[in-house]
Amino acid sequence: MLRFALPTMSVDRRFGIVASTLGLLFVALTSGLLVHQWGAYARADHALSHFQVFRATLLAMEKVSAERGPTNSALGEDVPIPAQRVAALRAARAESDARIAHLLGLLDSSHCDECSMEWAAAQRAHAELATARANIDQVIRVPLARRTDQVLEQAVVRMVEVIPQFAPITNASTKGVLDGDANALNCLMAARLAAVLREQAGLLGSRFTAALASRRKLTEAEQFAIERTRGGIDQLGALLRTRVMEDTALAHGAFVRMKRQYFGDGLAYVNRVRALASLPGGAVASTGEFAAQYVPLMRSIVEFRDEALTLAEEEVRSHRHAMLARLAGAAGILSALMCALGLGVWLFRRQVIQPFAEAALAIRAIAAGGPSADLPSNAYRGEIQELFDAVQVLKTNDLERTRLEQERQRLIAELRTMAETDSLTRLLNRRAFESRAQAACLYHDARAPYLALVMIDIDHFKRINDTYGHAAGDRALEHMADLCRDTWRKDDIVARIGGEEFAVLAGVRERAQALELVQCLRIRLAQASVPLERAEGFTMSASFGIAYAARADSPSIRSLLKRADRLLYQAKLAGRDRIEVEADDCSQP
Ligand code: GH3
Ligand code: MG
Ligand code: MG
Repeated sequence: MLRFALPTMSVDRRFGIVASTLGLLFVALTSGLLVHQWGAYARADHALSHFQVFRATLLAMEKVSAERGPTNSALGEDVPIPAQRVAALRAARAESDARIAHLLGLLDSSHCDECSMEWAAAQRAHAELATARANIDQVIRVPLARRTDQVLEQAVVRMVEVIPQFAPITNASTKGVLDGDANALNCLMAARLAAVLREQAGLLGSRFTAALASRRKLTEAEQFAIERTRGGIDQLGALLRTRVMEDTALAHGAFVRMKRQYFGDGLAYVNRVRALASLPGGAVASTGEFAAQYVPLMRSIVEFRDEALTLAEEEVRSHRHAMLARLAGAAGILSALMCALGLGVWLFRRQVIQPFAEAALAIRAIAAGGPSADLPSNAYRGEIQELFDAVQVLKTNDLERTRLEQERQRLIAELRTMAETDSLTRLLNRRAFESRAQAACLYHDARAPYLALVMIDIDHFKRINDTYGHAAGDRALEHMADLCRDTWRKDDIVARIGGEEFAVLAGVRERAQALELVQCLRIRLAQASVPLERAEGFTMSASFGIAYAARADSPSIRSLLKRADRLLYQAKLAGRDRIEVEADDCSQP
């Protein structure tokens, strides 16, 4: 279809269609690219939100873990619990609550559209924490001697079980961050491992709470739990070292401090207390003293976690910035390309397509011989201007050719007139008379069914020349021509066929009509004198011979001429100034 439709379209329209199609393709491709870049930026932006949730979750977990320190201290004190222990517990709980409130604020549905699951998990963790705290408050109101190991262990376990409630939030936020920026994986995992390590380190301390509170030896079950927790801590240490080896930015400062303070001093202190608590009578340290020694050494884990979080945030922020820059760059480059393409198409159309169409129109007009519009001079450059210059040459040549052709036609017409016309009287000459009269003989006209051939010869013309001069003779010939023109109709053929001889072929209704006209001419000739310049004018007479033929007989002009000439001769012989008319029975060719 396109193949057949295109040739009928103008080149400008075809170019418009092709340019629009290419433009649409370009827009479609660039839109796809921009949408892709926008998606990458949107994911990078979401990654930052998810990272904030991730960090808030780790901080909340840390504070809930840390709350177990003052809790364990209180559990190891007899009633009344010393005021400083109560104050420390309250402060720790307030810090946990503040962190959880911050996390819930970030997860609030008005801030985060897809965080309902995480929000519910945070709410669950908060509720579990409230229940665990209520249980602890109940336990510490009972005198120390009546607190059984089972009750104490149960109280500690309920606090510990709050931590896993945060796992769905850390999992979802980790995924959210990595979806937007996979490069944050190492720092994120290091922070998470450090958070778990902090939790396990706290848990390790909690394992001693019951034995230290009761000032007794560690039970076998407690020894086993301590051993298991230590195993977990060693494993976490190994995993952290792997992460640090993969990302050297993590290997400095905080990591070195954590290795020295927690894995060195902290675990050595735990080993010492454990060794003492393994002896009959238990360790001499109270839960408060244990916490005072052990908890500060765990701070290096939190510092390492914070450093990993800072590095992860830097990575996520710089990735988001890079994505924004790439989006802006892509939009800028594509807009510039679009403008350049539009400008190119516009210029090409203006400089090439439109001039081409204009030149084609001019060439068509020249070829058709019609008038063409004015061509632009010096409006274009290069080949296009050369094209217009060439078209201008064609146009000039064509105008010249047309002018010459008109001149030729005029000259031909003039020559034809000259060839057919008698120069003195401007009547037809004999040759033109014969050819036109022959054509008229073959023409049928119902209103004039007969043809009359009248031959006229001025009488004693030689004498007129001799008497008045040759110029007067010419005037007499012109006078005769004027009278003939006046006498016969336009359709009749009047000619000067010899020196002072004239012939007329007239179409008539009937034979008498021709005679009447000739009579009329003869009388006018006799009455009207030929004017002379310096002398009085003169009149003259003529002799006439009239031959007839019916159009229906398709007569021959030669025959008619011959018969009329014979009649004219008879008129001369009979004394001149006479009309001899052909008898009916003589009108045969
Ligand atoms: P007739 O009555 O028998 O016809 O005698 P005529 O003198 O008219 O006839 P003739 O044939 O003897 O003479 C014709 C003359 O017409 C001779 C010639 O000089 C003259 N003539 C022919 N052509 C022209 C012309 O163009 N101009 C002039 N002024 N005279 C012409
Ligand atoms: Mg004559
Ligand atoms: Mg004569």
